[in-house]
Amino acid sequence: YNTAFEVVRNPAGGSFTASKIEKTLTRTLTRAEGVITSSLYVSGLKADIPNPVLVELIRAYSWDVDFQRDIRSGDTFQVMYERVYDEHGNHVHSGNIRFAQLTLSGKRHPIYRYRSKDGDDDYFDERGQTARKALMRTPIDGARLSSGFGRRRHPILGYNKMHRGVDFAAPRGTSIYAAGNGTIIKAGRNGAYGIYIRIRHNNRYSTAYGHMKGLARSARRGKRVTQGQIIGYVGTTGRSTGPHLHYEILSNGRRTNPMKIKMPSGRKLKGGALAAFQAARASIDTAFSGLAPKKVAKAGN
Ligand SMILES: [Zn+2]
Repeated sequence: YNTAFEVVRNPAGGSFTASKIEKTLTRTLTRAEGVITSSLYVSGLKADIPNPVLVELIRAYSWDVDFQRDIRSGDTFQVMYERVYDEHGNHVHSGNIRFAQLTLSGKRHPIYRYRSKDGDDDYFDERGQTARKALMRTPIDGARLSSGFGRRRHPILGYNKMHRGVDFAAPRGTSIYAAGNGTIIKAGRNGAYGIYIRIRHNNRYSTAYGHMKGLARSARRGKRVTQGQIIGYVGTTGRSTGPHLHYEILSNGRRTNPMKIKMPSGRKLKGGALAAFQAARASIDTAFSGLAPKKVAKAGN
């Protein structure tokens, strides 16, 4: 039995009563998949994946995947997530992603949701390495990014000798995230960068964000930030041709290519913990291959 709370508004008095009710919740697994066209978000919605699951999926890959440069025509996604039903068979909500896989330029990127014995609940790759990295490759709300291929309006520059960062073209106001835990060491106007933030992550790495429309309220010099925290919003301040985030990763103070950098990795399971994970992974693989992909009604058919 799972405990749920039911809140009932009393229509006459305008007061609320809350009662604890026992409900039998059933979890079923759903499999969905498709080809990425303009963006993972848009293609995911077309595959009938619920919005919260899709947002979670994009976030789970934001450490590893540059959603504007790594997506190519023909790349695919697969996801297996929970659907939760009450005792009357009504769909209550969508639950966790249990497994997902992006296939980018022919290379598979599987992730498995796994709770280890010591209670860590995270996404791991097939070798038991956390998908979470010290720094995010896409430090922006990925649901609002379209893939770079076929784009015409704003050039989205990659890293080269003249341009020592990467650009993410996104609608004005899109949330920008701190790529990792750290301390804000610069926040405010900075010449051609426009409204700018620089975060120091450790002795070696810092990251910088330019052309913002504005800073988040809590983003001030000297403040600590945590990975994924909103630090500002996409704009086109400074020397800029359209709304985009200019993102730099600095290693020992030098701007480096975020596409090439070997991201400092998270934890890796070892010994008994790794063996337990591999057993769980095998049963997730079996569950996934046993499910038929969700059928999606196509418009016009
Ligand atoms: Zn740039």
